[in-house]
Amino acid sequence: MGKSYLESHPDENGYFGRFGGSFIPPMLEKPFADITKAYEEIKNSPAFIEELKYVRKHFQGRPTPITYAKNLTTHCGGAKIYLKREDLNHSGAHKLNHCMAEVILAKHMGFKKVIAETGAGQHGVALATAAAYFGLECEIHMGEVDIAKEHPNVVRMKILGAKVVPATHGLRTLKEAVDSAFESYVSQADTAIYCIGSVVGPHPFPMMVRDFQSIIGIESREQFFEHEDNLPNNVVACVGGGSNAMGIFAGFIDDKEVELYGVEPMGKGEKLGEHSASLTYGSEGVMHGFNSVMLKDEKGEPAPVYSIASGIDYPSVGPEQAHLNDIGRTKVGLCNDTQAIDAFYKLSQLEGIIPALESAHAVGFAMQLAKQLPKDQTILVNLSGRGDKDIDFVVENHPIPNAKF
Ligand SMILES: *Cc1c(COP(=O)(O)O)cnc(C)c1O
Repeated sequence: MGKSYLESHPDENGYFGRFGGSFIPPMLEKPFADITKAYEEIKNSPAFIEELKYVRKHFQGRPTPITYAKNLTTHCGGAKIYLKREDLNHSGAHKLNHCMAEVILAKHMGFKKVIAETGAGQHGVALATAAAYFGLECEIHMGEVDIAKEHPNVVRMKILGAKVVPATHGLRTLKEAVDSAFESYVSQADTAIYCIGSVVGPHPFPMMVRDFQSIIGIESREQFFEHEDNLPNNVVACVGGGSNAMGIFAGFIDDKEVELYGVEPMGKGEKLGEHSASLTYGSEGVMHGFNSVMLKDEKGEPAPVYSIASGIDYPSVGPEQAHLNDIGRTKVGLCNDTQAIDAFYKLSQLEGIIPALESAHAVGFAMQLAKQLPKDQTILVNLSGRGDKDIDFVVENHPIPNAKF
């Protein structure tokens, strides 16, 4: 039997086709090589697998269920819509899947501290949670603008015992937080480890974070049979960096008959700066240490991007997603702000589930797809997170439909 797709990707240099690799300053080559070596050692060790299984079951709340969205399906009038409930993970999103594993790896390598950047604060909260559980120090870098915007997550990180370092230069958002976190990491790479928040960055992170997130797809494949006694016809996930998408796709990638859709945010329009649809409008380039597809400004620098959902407004995409799109194994779905807000309220009012705005993009695209497909077809949506973090922003800017006061 030939090797499965996952076993044969990436190659030993961290490439998925021509995307990926490692473009880092010389002083980081040794620390990153050490991380790769340690991961290769522990990933098949029974002790690591047991520990991860234990925390997933007894701390995180896995397996997360698959819910049939019956009322939403009736509303759309076409294919059946199912939801993989990553919103039910402890701390409210899929991010804990890789954070718990990254911190176990850090502990195994003898590090006492984890460092990361965060945009909306979701990765910061998940990493602070994992660090508290395993007793490690946690340092999170965040742009000053995001600190003001995402106040509850900042408080959460602090309550969990993390140190929050403001990035005060440039636009003071995610890119500057990455710069700031890297600078801090370089000065303490012998005692601390950098924990990237998605399937992005230099090798081995795109592979490692995908492997840690693949639990979503492994569970889904088994659970879907309980509902339909078959594979889903379509699997849909939103794409920021691409970790929740790669996580669920991992379960179906060798099933060629299953269509895989990565949904990009179309924001407010098609002009540069109005969206963050990197695969749709981007071109090949290197950013944040890896080669992928990215949105560039006229100077070739990462372009300013926009989405109503701060977790997916990233000017690039993980290298594996770029590769799978390139070879036609995955397709791009689109969802704009208006469609995402509609999906946010529809899922809340028809199913009793308030989705994260990021996940609402996947739901919004699935609703369009369901309407075009016959009733015997199925769509499995990765509901990457819950919407508690977004409720104030949404109701202030987009009035509740059918509100009863
Ligand atoms: C961070 C986040 C995302 C986007 O990250 P990916 O790496 O693309 O998965 C999506 N949904 C939620 C709820 C998030 O917190």
